[in-house]
Amino acid sequence: MIEEKGIIYLNNVNKSYSTGVPALNGINLTIGRGEFVFIVGDSGSGKSTLIKLLLRELTATSGSVYVMGCDLAKLKHRQIPKFRRNLGVVFQDFRLLNDRNVYENVAFAQRIVQTPANEIRRNVPAILATVGLAGKYKAKTKQLSGGEQQRVALARALVNNPSILLADEPTGNLDPKNSWEIMKLLEEINEAGTTVIVVTHNREIVNAMQKRVVTMKKGVIVSDEEKGGYIDED
Ligand code: ADP
Ligand code: MG
Repeated sequence: MIEEKGIIYLNNVNKSYSTGVPALNGINLTIGRGEFVFIVGDSGSGKSTLIKLLLRELTATSGSVYVMGCDLAKLKHRQIPKFRRNLGVVFQDFRLLNDRNVYENVAFAQRIVQTPANEIRRNVPAILATVGLAGKYKAKTKQLSGGEQQRVALARALVNNPSILLADEPTGNLDPKNSWEIMKLLEEINEAGTTVIVVTHNREIVNAMQKRVVTMKKGVIVSDEEKGGYIDED
């Protein structure tokens, strides 16, 4: 299907869980191919719900969600794995396979999509070098620092060369130095052509990086600024 509006296009999207107030309420959002976008907002404002809609982990209660021209409401269950190959994702808690080494964590993502073994042997070292982990192939993930673990997660998210990278609070468990390093990597990945969407609470980084900033509050987008900053409450 053609990608008319943007690589991501949400039109009047609502999402209600079975309990409580709507998590998303009338979301309109267009993100162009190649953009870098921060999504900020208080806890409970709907940021992770939005990410889950884009991943097709959840479906909208009403309204439409298009990713790469694909109407996610029309996506059949058997089509979801192929759809998700376009998306890389990282989370606050890394979600690595802790009984395997660094190389295996990244190679696993390639095996799932049936990449030939000779390509895996070429791709995994290349992506580990990109995230600054050349030489750590054999380390068990538990032996790594938080910053290193997030780099492994990033390598795994990128190894299949996705069009879009979604990061839900990727620096939430990292110290300031590692947070900056991960954000700089995300910026480089974006500059190499990937559309990058980052949910974060890191006010200092958001203010310094001068990217597009979408601010959410109680399920609504309350501001959307090019070269924006973190909007203070009160
Ligand atoms: P954020 O990521 O901005 O903290 P979330 O998208 O996680 O916000 O949550 C938005 C709202 O939806 C919150 O009120 C939260 O309690 C509610 N919510 C999130 N996930 C669920 C769920 N699985 N079941 C019921 N309510 C949920
Ligand atoms: Mg969240």
